[in-house]
Parts: sequence; structure tokens; C-alpha cells
Amino acid sequence: MRAVDIIRRKRDGYALTPDEIRSFVASAAGKPASPASTWADYQLSAMLMAIWIRGMTPGETAELTMQMTHSGRTFRWDDIPGPKVDKHSTGGVGDKTSLILGPLAAACGAIVPMMSGRGLGHTGGTLDKLESIPGFRVGLDEAEIRKVLKKTGIALISQTADVAPADRRLYALRDVTGTVESIPLISASILSKKLAEGISGLILDVKVGEGAFMKTLPDARELAQSLVRVGNANGVRTRARITSMDAPLGRAVGNSLEVIECIETLRGNGPCDLETLSVMLAADMLLLAGIADSPEDAEARVRSALTSGAGLEKFRDVIEAQGGNPAVIDDYSLLETTTQVLRVTASADGWLTGIQAEMIGRASMRLGGGRNRAEDTIDPAVGIVLLRKPGEAVRKGDAVLEVHYRNEDNLPLVRTICEAAIRIHDAPFAAVPISLEEVVD
Ligand code: URA
Repeated sequence: MRAVDIIRRKRDGYALTPDEIRSFVASAAGKPASPASTWADYQLSAMLMAIWIRGMTPGETAELTMQMTHSGRTFRWDDIPGPKVDKHSTGGVGDKTSLILGPLAAACGAIVPMMSGRGLGHTGGTLDKLESIPGFRVGLDEAEIRKVLKKTGIALISQTADVAPADRRLYALRDVTGTVESIPLISASILSKKLAEGISGLILDVKVGEGAFMKTLPDARELAQSLVRVGNANGVRTRARITSMDAPLGRAVGNSLEVIECIETLRGNGPCDLETLSVMLAADMLLLAGIADSPEDAEARVRSALTSGAGLEKFRDVIEAQGGNPAVIDDYSLLETTTQVLRVTASADGWLTGIQAEMIGRASMRLGGGRNRAEDTIDPAVGIVLLRKPGEAVRKGDAVLEVHYRNEDNLPLVRTICEAAIRIHDAPFAAVPISLEEVVD
């Protein structure tokens, strides 16, 4: 089977067979069955473009995901009793729910082997937030992950290099060939990594809105439906929520600032939108895990872990188990922060109808809190705090945003971006709920 013949078939709109997909994925992972069946990068790229244009059937997408998952290491945690579940978010600004819902779900009896990513562009990443905790190690090997999971029921870790290697190569090619925005390719990419975690249940938080990958509800719905279908077809109970990402989630954007907000939320002092979404997703995890038998039961269990402080103690335990300093829970001065603060004010009287998430993410990146390129280093101390949230009334001159900066190089630009991100109108608006839709198979 020659690569060119397989590419032609997809180009002409045919569904690929499992053997054809295997040939493509094996080469992407650097493990072709024979020298003659090796695909060059230009052939992999041509196939990606053919898939982008022609799409894939649900069966093809499920097969592609399965092959990509098995292109590398997959984990099994059979020696650790309890249901293994996780959450994945398609990414947003101020989206820090993992650090809250992971400990809450673990405190309720779930086992959470959570492999996360780093931030790129305007969106933040769980690993960067965790690494702002002094000593916290995200790069654990399998034996260390097992030890942490056995001890605490949760591990907050980076993907090891041998997980889904086909995705790593294909994603790099997609990035430079204009083929990222394809529902089957996104589904296979996200799920190949999650399915390798050895979980039986997965809740997906598919973000929609100005600050999200998916800008419209129909697009978000299509991605959520594809992810749910493919996850279930691969034997993992999968559900999705489509949630709003027009404004940043919570009040803090920036790594240390977000860790502080997560700890405050686990203490019961979190912003309403962040607490609501974290509790909702943790409850979804308990349902998928079979720990709770109804949505009401699931929510009650999560709320009890929140109010009793069990979730906060679980976070402390996992910080300690992964080499971090658990004293940060009670002493935020142990985190790197900055005292240099600039306030951005309202330009008129009225109602705050929006704080544009993508702009806030970009402003935080310009401060040094995010990455332009994967190899950039980030500053955990900087970021932006929303003193006001959309829906609130403001008067001209009221402080709306607080910019935490370390040097003044980009400050004028950051101020301009922040000012442009604030939307004020002369009439109140009806706030949208945080969770817009649920998608089940
Ligand atoms: N995140 C991924 O891991 N893959 C994609 O294709 C898009 C977002």
C-alpha cells in the first residue's frame, strides 16, 4: 500500500480503511511497518489537508484516535483500586478548574491521573500554573505517578514524551500547513492523549466564545459531539459541556495569581462562575466514575468536599507528594508575585457588558505570563485581576482591571489592550449561564 494511493483515496472522498489509517499513523509515529511504507512529511501533510477538506466519518475518526493512542505508551492502573476519571478543557483564559475539580473529585473517591499541557498563545496551561508552586514537579515517570496516585488519588502531570508520538508529529505539521481547524483531527489529537491515561470516564469542557478555539455555538457543538462519540467508541464513558469563554473565568489571569484563586475557591471564597463550573465538572466526573447515582447526589458530594475542606486538604497532599511546598496553601508570600500594579479604569458610566477574554489573555502574555512560542519562558508573578466582572454597574474612573507587572517594557501596549477589552453599555444585559449545553452520546 503506497502512501500516494492512500492520499488519493482520501482526496477523492473515500473513507479510509483501518489498514490505511494504520500506515499513516505508524509513519507519523516514526514506526513504519517497512521502509517501503514510510510516509515523508510532505505526504503526511498532504493527507492532513485531504482530511481537512474531505472530513472523516465517525468510524474513521474513532479508528484514527485509537491508532494514535496506541502509537505510544498507554497507562494502566489496575493495582490502584477505584474508578479512574479525568477532565479535559479545550482551553481558555483564566481557566483554572483542573486545580479545583481534580482535588474535589479525588476527595470524593475518584482516581484522577490528570495529564495536562502548557499554555500557548492567549490561553493558559495547567502545568505552568502548577510550576508556580515552589518545588512542584510535573514531569514524573510512571513509577512516580503510580506512587502519587496510590498516596493521594490524584496526580497532576505532564504528558511523557512517549505518549501519542503520532500526535506530536502530526500536530507540528498541522500547525504549519493550515490544518489545525478540523473536527476529526482535533478530536483524534485531544483524545489520543487522554485515552492513553488509562481512564474509564472523561468529562470534556468545550469552550465557546470570543476567547475560545471555537467561536460559535454550532462549531462548539460539532466538536463536542465528535469528542463524545469518539471517546465512547473507544470504550471511555465520555460526556461534554459547552461552556462560555467570552470573559475570563474567575477574576485572576496569570500563574501565581490563578493558584491563589484556586486555593481561595477550595476554601469556599472563590468567584461564583469559577466555583459553579468547577463543582459542576467535578460532579460530572463522579457520575462518570459511578461514585454518585444522580446529578443531585454528585453535586451534594462535591459541595460537601468543598465545605468540609477535604478538597483543599487533597490539594495540599498532592502538592507535597509532587515535591511542592504545601505551606503555600496558608502562606501566599511563598509564591512569586509582584507589588507593581497598574489599574485600568472604566471610560464611562454604565454596565460592564464584557471583558474580552482573548485580549486579556494576550495582555497577560505580553507581560510575560504566557508564551508566544513553545520554547519561551514565563514569569509566574505577572497577570491581570478582574476587579469587576461583566454584569456589574460601573462609574467612569472606577478601577476595572489590575495589571500585575514586573517591568515596564510592554506596559503602554498592555494598558491599550486592557482598555480595549473593557465593554461598557448604557443598559444592563442578561448574563448568560456558564454551562450552555450538555452533550451525551
Ligand atoms: N488541542 C490538542 O491537543 N489538539 C488539537 O488539535 C487542538 C487542541
